[in-house]
Amino acid sequence: AKSRGGNQYTFYNSELNNMVERKMMMEHDLERAIQKGQFILHYQPKINLQTRKIVGVEALVRWKHPLLGTVPPTEFIAIAEETGQIVAIGNWVLHTACNQIKKWKQMGYDHLHMAINVSARQFEDKNFISDVKEIIDKTGVHPSDIELEITESVVKNIADSSRILKELDLMGIRASLDDFGTGYSSLSVLKDLLIDAIKIDRSFIQEHTDADIAMMKSIMNIGFNFNLEVIVEGIEHEQQVEALLAISNRTIFGQGYLFSKPASAEEIEKLF
Ligand code: C2E
Ligand code: CA
Ligand code: CA
Ligand code: CA
Repeated sequence: AKSRGGNQYTFYNSELNNMVERKMMMEHDLERAIQKGQFILHYQPKINLQTRKIVGVEALVRWKHPLLGTVPPTEFIAIAEETGQIVAIGNWVLHTACNQIKKWKQMGYDHLHMAINVSARQFEDKNFISDVKEIIDKTGVHPSDIELEITESVVKNIADSSRILKELDLMGIRASLDDFGTGYSSLSVLKDLLIDAIKIDRSFIQEHTDADIAMMKSIMNIGFNFNLEVIVEGIEHEQQVEALLAISNRTIFGQGYLFSKPASAEEIEKLF
């Protein structure tokens, strides 16, 4: 028993070391990851649930690390926020996604728009608006073809957020509130912020008891009552689509593995 305990200690200890080493490696390597061309964007379609047509895509970043393999954004975005690298990464994402939507427009996919995630630190950066303007000018993308997705954590400072969202709105860029329903401030922010859409967090669609459906209906109606577009995230089964369509006659949009997992531009293009 004693030696087993010892092994366990070694096991946990080395696992912890691995985690610490992994984080240190990521912190260090993030610095040159853009230069080295290690980021790629995947795209996930957004569907009109009534017509089943693709109306747009969301850009989702991945990091191809030479030793760690594909690192998901859930792992490195937080680190990039700590180190401040998120601003450069966010600008790379914006630039790349704008180029991609421009290319798709030129190929004749006129009706599509591109949704791009913006992290808290990036949104709060003093150069955010000028960076966005510069990227729009450089890529020649039409501002109304892009939609920026921000989360509630971004809007903790309502005064600053309203000002930034107003500037984006004046530029003709759309904005949506991501992971909607997961934070306590959801309701109050809706009346103060110039947003165009809410994206209902995927946790709300996972179960389908009567209570869950009632909850989903309430959240969707909040969006409709504020004249916002409603997007439901994390749709994996046909029954979920049926349930959503039974709730409301309004147009509902959805994203999820049922329609497509996020994939490369070439893969997604085949679905258009
Ligand atoms: P998010 O913006 O809420 O993006 C949706 C996430 O849910 C994506 O994970 C997507 O792959 C996943 N997903 C989509 N459909 C389904 C489904 O049917 N079932 C399940 N279980 N999952 C689904 P991903 O790509 O790993 O991104 C995770 C988060 O990382 C994003 O959540 C977003 O907050 C952040 N992120 C991704 N790309 C960027 C980026 O370019 N910039 C910033 N700042 N954050 C990003
Ligand atoms: Ca998002
Ligand atoms: Ca707007
Ligand atoms: Ca989300």
